Amino acid sequence: MAVDEPSASGVLSPDRADLVLGDDGAAIVSVETYALAVPLKSPIADSTAALTHWTVPVVEIRTRDGRVGTGISGVHAGSGLLCTVIDDYYAAALLGASSEDVIGTWNRLYWLPTHWIGRAGVVHMALSMVDIALWDLAAQRAGVPLWRLLGGTPDPIEAYNTDAGWLNRTENELVHDLSSLLDQGWKRVKVKVGKPDPLEDISRVRAVRRAVGDGTTLMCDANQRWDLATANRMMPVLEEVAMDWVEEPLHADDLEGHATLQRATRLDIAAGESIYSYQQFASFIAGDALRVVQVDATRVGGVTEWLQVAAHAAARGLRVAPHAGDMMQVHQHVVGTGLAQSPPLIEFIPWTQDAYVDRSIVQDGYLQRPQAPGASTAIDPEARRNWQIRGVGTARVS
Ligand code: MG
Repeated sequence: MAVDEPSASGVLSPDRADLVLGDDGAAIVSVETYALAVPLKSPIADSTAALTHWTVPVVEIRTRDGRVGTGISGVHAGSGLLCTVIDDYYAAALLGASSEDVIGTWNRLYWLPTHWIGRAGVVHMALSMVDIALWDLAAQRAGVPLWRLLGGTPDPIEAYNTDAGWLNRTENELVHDLSSLLDQGWKRVKVKVGKPDPLEDISRVRAVRRAVGDGTTLMCDANQRWDLATANRMMPVLEEVAMDWVEEPLHADDLEGHATLQRATRLDIAAGESIYSYQQFASFIAGDALRVVQVDATRVGGVTEWLQVAAHAAARGLRVAPHAGDMMQVHQHVVGTGLAQSPPLIEFIPWTQDAYVDRSIVQDGYLQRPQAPGASTAIDPEARRNWQIRGVGTARVS
């Protein structure tokens, strides 16, 4: 005999009937989810993943005044898991609530009983999708792009390009691809490392430095592939080729390893795409375990938690350079919205540009701030027709 799942309520999550609504038009009247599988122009690989598509889970939150706020994430697999968290657990807590209550909603969803099974990963990423949708709505209601609502400057943001340094390219292809980026005006590029044989990495990064010259800023990314011994052996070579930063050299949870490595090198250790909370970032920062904070709004709890991490990091003099799990649609709004000594920097990966109504504009390595009201997350209807994944979310297609 089977039973229904017993219901549970969070003590810190008041029933939505207790909520004070602001503008009646801001009341949430529907919550829908779906996901897109956006094809890449050519397959890519880093040290831990090989991809032909980038998957974009989507939540659309409608308010009584007819507006639609869109929240997104970015995953390799499991888009349906994020949608299910929203559909089965968050939607009931959202319907009837005010979309203007961004912080209150964050806290209510965070402290639902799902807190027990997901302060990181699926549950938290679903929270980030809802938070992004609410910020999108807030900016739409204010009639301004999100960066302006957050007090950002209109200046173009310097970007670095990740889309030519893949591990599945031969050394010659790698050099060719990176060189062609320089021809397009890029001055900062990133290359993947973490080949099974570190000697191959050494050959590749030396070849790349020879090809791009001293005037190009070069970063590398091991995607957590190395152990501490391998990372220690690689550091002198990475120093020799003047890497601007060394990204995710070790397992993402290995705070002590990162701190040990950071103490032993003059290069900056970068991490953050696999760090899911403000508290975990605060621990890494307190432990001097990283110098470049790559907080991603789709991995921490949306724009709200991103702003908190960025402010914390910047106040300690660290660089903030977000990882772009959203392919920068949201990050082009949040970077450069707080006080910081270092100029803002954004990661450019153009994979999902065709999925959105508002495409990003990058010229000569600088991203122009978007001008349309909102967070640039609205999905292009044709993209949805072409790429919506069958059987995922409440807004299902068959
Ligand atoms: Mg990375």
